[in-house]
Amino acid sequence: MQVRHRYRIYPTLGQQQSLARAFGCARVVYNDCLRIRDAAHTAGEKISDTEVQRRVITLGKQAPEREWLGDVASVALVQACQDARRAYRNWFDSLSGKRRRRKVGHPRFRRRHQRQSIRLTRNGFALHGQRLYVAKVGDITVEWSRDLPSMPSSVTVIKEADGRYYASFVVEREASPLPACEREIGIDLGLASLAVTSDGEVIGNPRFLRARERKLARTQRALSRKQSGSANRARARRQVAVVHRKIRETRLDHAHKTALWLVRDNQAVYAEDLAVSGLARTPLAKSVHDAGWTQLLRLVEEKAARYGRTFHKIGRFEPTSQVCSACGAKDGPKPLHVREWTCAACGTRHDRDHNAAKNVLALGRRESLNVCGGGVRPGRILVAAGEAGTHRSAT
Ligand SMILES: [Zn+2]
Repeated sequence: MQVRHRYRIYPTLGQQQSLARAFGCARVVYNDCLRIRDAAHTAGEKISDTEVQRRVITLGKQAPEREWLGDVASVALVQACQDARRAYRNWFDSLSGKRRRRKVGHPRFRRRHQRQSIRLTRNGFALHGQRLYVAKVGDITVEWSRDLPSMPSSVTVIKEADGRYYASFVVEREASPLPACEREIGIDLGLASLAVTSDGEVIGNPRFLRARERKLARTQRALSRKQSGSANRARARRQVAVVHRKIRETRLDHAHKTALWLVRDNQAVYAEDLAVSGLARTPLAKSVHDAGWTQLLRLVEEKAARYGRTFHKIGRFEPTSQVCSACGAKDGPKPLHVREWTCAACGTRHDRDHNAAKNVLALGRRESLNVCGGGVRPGRILVAAGEAGTHRSAT
């Protein structure tokens, strides 16, 4: 299966300048692609992927105002075109309902002050001993916090908004199944905590997260008071980015540990699909919890595939918090503040989330039996996307 491994890298000042140029060009190409596709979409004309690429890169290099596109590795520009194509397609599929997963909006234009990146395939990078060679940039020092399991097929070079540089490699990794075990578990994604399991275990949010979120709000307020274009504003922006990074790292670390614990101790893990869950539909839940849940489920899926476990998402919306897990009676909707309730049919007293997790387990078992006629599917192979497996991962 394919996974990502991320390492911190330390480009020299000169290399930072070359990278800045490459980031800039990739950003311009990406945005040009979106504009051309938008224009074609508005005019109601169909435009092929090769035509978009020809107009943006080939014709772009000939135009005096885009001449500098020739200064950077063309593989990075081609990849930027493909990124734009994928973002556009996701949006389209989402509009037409072809995409079953969460709705995505129109792709956003890339901006200078955000995270910058270029993606390179094998003809744009190489490993020179301990260093990472990037075309038209040079040999960059890498902090090899863990070994690469195989020769990477591609690399994304990233500059985060806080100024740190990373290389994220896509590598092939052998699955290493754990000995089979009997236990299965259902998890209910919660508001007060990150999740509750069908065993009644409460998985809290990471420690310090609240304090850091308050700090983030404070630095963001400070940023908004700074004059645009000033040195103070640039410094404030960096401070916000640093707090963001700390929150991200705290969350990711916690999610890795939680996912590993769930997958190691259970043969099958069942959860609600966020795209169809009732909770995720409320605007409040979306803004506050979505990121943490998505990350946790992605890591559980990834680790299940790696360790030969099953991860199954319940395929359709079920009112898991309304049904009594003891007798199956449907007790009717309950406002979010109701944490405990008693089943009118059988008199069992329920903790809201624990009961929901038990229902998730039962539903998941039933669905996975239906899907494969008795057996449990082995962990699905997946291509990890996004931030999977940074150097501090607990995989
Ligand atoms: Zn009951």
